[in-house]
Amino acid sequence: MSRDVHQQAREWIALTGADGLSDAQHSQLQAHLRECALCREYADTISQVVRSLRSVPMAATPWLVRTTQARVRQHAQLLRQHRERLWMVGIACAGVGFSAAVTIPLMWKVFSWLGAWAGVSSPVWETGFGVFVIAPALLVSVLLLARGTHATDDAGRWHL
Ligand SMILES: [Zn+2]
Repeated sequence: MSRDVHQQAREWIALTGADGLSDAQHSQLQAHLRECALCREYADTISQVVRSLRSVPMAATPWLVRTTQARVRQHAQLLRQHRERLWMVGIACAGVGFSAAVTIPLMWKVFSWLGAWAGVSSPVWETGFGVFVIAPALLVSVLLLARGTHATDDAGRWHL
């Protein structure tokens, strides 16, 4: 086959579907496509391009889906981070509670002994003990509250 035959076939391929082909040309093209792999490939490529051009409005949907999925993933990750932070706060609280449970009876004994050694009355060393125990607990509470507020801020900022 000469080069012109393929050239002619490709012109007809381009015209296919645009009512530009006579029946004779159409059957001649089909005959050529049956025996010419290169022009068949060309015809396939053309029809793929036409199909993908037709599906452009539909192509916005997978993109939107991907974008939405990415946002949902990011949001889920943020929520997980928030949960992990709350978990850390919970562990810190448990740690403080545990150390207090161990420390307070011990410190009570130490203060009691110090009170007896210094010769002060019970209300004096008991008050000292109270201040000693409450001050760190107050400090930890304020710190945890600040951290908790900070975590909520992060989550809130994402929504905006
Ligand atoms: Zn050909």
